[in-house]
Order: sequence, then structure tokens, then C-alpha cells
Amino acid sequence: MVASAQRSVESSFPRPGWVEQSPSEIWDTQLEAARQVAAQVGVERIRAVAIANQRETALIWKRATLEPIGPAIVWQCRRTASVAAQLDDLHGEQIRFRSGLQPDAYFSGPKFSWLLNHADPALRARDRAEAGELACGTVDTWLLAKLTGGAVHATDVTNASRTMLWNLSDRDWDKQLCSWQGVPMSMLPEARPSGSEYGLTEASLLGKALPILAVAGDQQAALYGHGITSPGAAKCTYGTGAFLLSHAEPEADAESTPDGLLLTAAVDGGLALEGGVFTAGSVVQWLRDELELAPSASEISALAASTDTSGGVMLIPALAGLGSPHWDPDARGAILGLTRGTTKAQIARAALEAVAFRVREILEAMEAGAGPIAELRVDGGMTSSDEMLQIQANALQRPIVRPATQETTAFGVARLAMEVSGLDAVIEMDEDRFEPNADLESAFQRWSAARRAIQTLSPDGDLTE
Ligand code: ADP
Repeated sequence: MVASAQRSVESSFPRPGWVEQSPSEIWDTQLEAARQVAAQVGVERIRAVAIANQRETALIWKRATLEPIGPAIVWQCRRTASVAAQLDDLHGEQIRFRSGLQPDAYFSGPKFSWLLNHADPALRARDRAEAGELACGTVDTWLLAKLTGGAVHATDVTNASRTMLWNLSDRDWDKQLCSWQGVPMSMLPEARPSGSEYGLTEASLLGKALPILAVAGDQQAALYGHGITSPGAAKCTYGTGAFLLSHAEPEADAESTPDGLLLTAAVDGGLALEGGVFTAGSVVQWLRDELELAPSASEISALAASTDTSGGVMLIPALAGLGSPHWDPDARGAILGLTRGTTKAQIARAALEAVAFRVREILEAMEAGAGPIAELRVDGGMTSSDEMLQIQANALQRPIVRPATQETTAFGVARLAMEVSGLDAVIEMDEDRFEPNADLESAFQRWSAARRAIQTLSPDGDLTE
């Protein structure tokens, strides 16, 4: 890595469960970061641009002026939860079969429809969408449009496969899925292979027109960045949530997908199995900010490392429901097994074990579909904790491998762009390995029983109650 720059993008929360970003801020911050990198390395040395992006986030803009008609509705936003539940009731099986996804507010289709329905009525958004005057897309498509001055309206297959509008076996937009979700097909971008010639950036932006040669959603980009291109290995990115992906068998389809996992397009044209833990790093944040166990995430991890066992304390990290493979949005979290002698360190350790156990549940579900997974490759903020990774190795009884570069996502699309431009993309990276050195089997079994019990005790209905 020769240069890097970062800009953060603000999220706003206009109502409980709603999450929005500003389309213009997404563009402005990314352009600033790109300009800073170009200035650091000299634009003449840059061969190509590649995009790895947050997935599912939905935007609509006017084709002629690239003016957004509403906010970017972020992947975490729950405003379409009731629409998704209704879609699941009416067409759940067909949606899973066609898109590989479990109908949920997470995915883009109903978000596009919401934006059309709630745009300024004077705009007559649905009519204009049908007339081809509006364009919709995820963040990659928005950045491609802005980078090329509106010349390109495209996405890649990995992002397309997260909209719930894309048919995995036809590898094309699905008329029926679009109709069920109220999305006019005239708005959709052209979906291309992740590594391909998307177009040229406007010369004025970075000082030179550069070819855009790769686009991929962040999780699939990370899978590729870890060098995983066949079944037998998996990666987990531990951020706010944790996302596990592995390659599926080439002949995989929705019917062979293990219950509770998603099937999704991979960067190299194949398919990937995916499962998500909604609460991973965020449980550490919660211990830091609400229980005030320690002032920083790394000190929570140090606290966990200060004790050899959690002393029978168990934490169920269902702070935002439970994701894969349970898909239980109403489940609530819990801390169990307390005594008068329970310490902060034991609670901190129980939190790290809880994340490791949730990852184990998904990995085991994955193995049912993709066969044995020999090792887990990891990245993301939480993997700066050696203790977390040792606990993960013990919970899985498999080696955990952490590459020296933590920018696996950006690295995945950079590698793809190098391949498209004919450069040698074999890159050696140092890595740390964590081998199992203790057995957590009985702790996992007790924790699993607690998790099941907690699910039966959680109230049905609105999490914000
Ligand atoms: P995101 O991309 O989702 O914002 P990051 O990859 O930046 O997330 O990871 C941030 C998360 O990692 C935070 O939730 C934080 O609590 C957790 N984290 C960061 N450092 C540590 C650490 N040393 N030990 C445990 N968790 C950590």
C-alpha cells in the first residue's frame, strides 16, 4: 500500500430504526479522499480506479442532472420492515429461490420503492421513473455516475445480488421481483461483471481521465481480498457486525443453501454463502459506553485478557435481534450466570466469547452447505484484539489467520483491477496465525442452551418497546 486517505460519512437517524446518509456528502467525501491519494502518489502513476462500497444502501437521482430525489437510505434502515414482512408472507419462497435472499428490510428493492412513493409529489416520481428519467442504484452506481459525469449507469453483479431484484440463476434483473417490490425496470443500472471496463473518470476530477476497472460490494471484495476463490476457506469481517462469507459449490442454488444463510454473487462470477452477526464490535461499544467497563474498546479487550475464563458468565449478544442462521428480529440480549464474585473482566471475556460463538453457529451452518472449512481468515476493527482471535480459534478449534493489511476490502477490488489491466496481481502479505490452545466446547454447549432459552423469553414485536 503506497497511500491511503479516509473521510467519514455522517449518518442521521430521523426516527427510531431509520438510518439515512446524504448522497452529496457520500460523493464529496469520496472525491476528497481520492484527490488526497492522487496528490500523495502523483496521478500519472495511477493506472485505474476501483470501487468497494457499502451494499444495499439505496439512492435515486435524475438522469439528466444527477440530482438526488431523496436521501440515501442506508442498509441498516428498518423503515421498510413491514413491507419486507409482507413480501415474505406473500412470496417468501419465490423470493428466496430467485434472489437467494431472505426478505428483510436490509435489501434495496423496497427502499427504492419507498423513495419513489415519498418523493415530492410535484416531481411525479413514478411517472418519471417509468419514462426513464430517473435512475436508481446502490452506492457504487451513484459513484460511477458521478465519476463519469453521468455517462455510465451501471453496477456489478455482487451489488446487484443484494437488491433482492436480481435473479441469481438467470444472472439478470428479475421482472417478477421488480414488480412485487414496485420498482420500475427502466430505473435499473446495467449489471456487469465485477472486473470490467466501466468507463473513464472525468478528467477534471482527479487531473486525468482514469479507467474504472473494478466494482464490488464490500463483503465480496473482502472475500476476494483474502484470496478465497473456492470452497474450503471462509472469511469473517468483524466491525460493528460480523459477516462471514465462503465460496459456494459451483452448482449451488437456493434449494441447496443451508437454512438461515444467504446465497449471493461473488466477485469472480461464482456464488458465495453469507451469514451475518448483527452485534459484534457493537457489544464491545455497549460495554464501553453503557456499562462503562473501560474507556476504550482495546481496554475492554485487555480486561477480557486479564482472566483465563469467564467463570461461567454467558452473554447473549442479541442487542439488535439475532441474524443468521436464526433471523429472529425480536430476540433480546442477556447476561447470565452471575454470582456475587463475578468481575468486570469475566463479563468482558463473556462478550468476546459470545461473538466467537455466534460466528461458530454460522460457520457450522456454512459447512453444511459448502463442506469442511479448514481455516478462517479475518479482518475488521475487532481483529486488532489478539485475545478475540485466540478465543475465536478455541471456539472453532480451527486456525484463525489475520493478514497484516487490514484494508482487505479495498485490496480485493484493487487486485481485481490489476487483473483486468493485465498486471501481475499476486501479492505476498505477512499474516498472523492463531492456533487453538484450549477447549471451549462445554462453554459453547451451555451458551447455546442459554441462547435458545433467551429466544423463547423475548417479547414479540417492536424492538424499540
Ligand atoms: P465498522 O466498519 O463497522 O464501522 P470497524 O471495522 O471500524 O467497524 O470496527 C470497529 C468495531 O471494532 C467497534 O465496534 C469496536 O468496538 C471494535 N473494536 C475496535 N478495537 C477493538 C479491540 N481492540 N477489541 C475489541 N473490539 C474492538
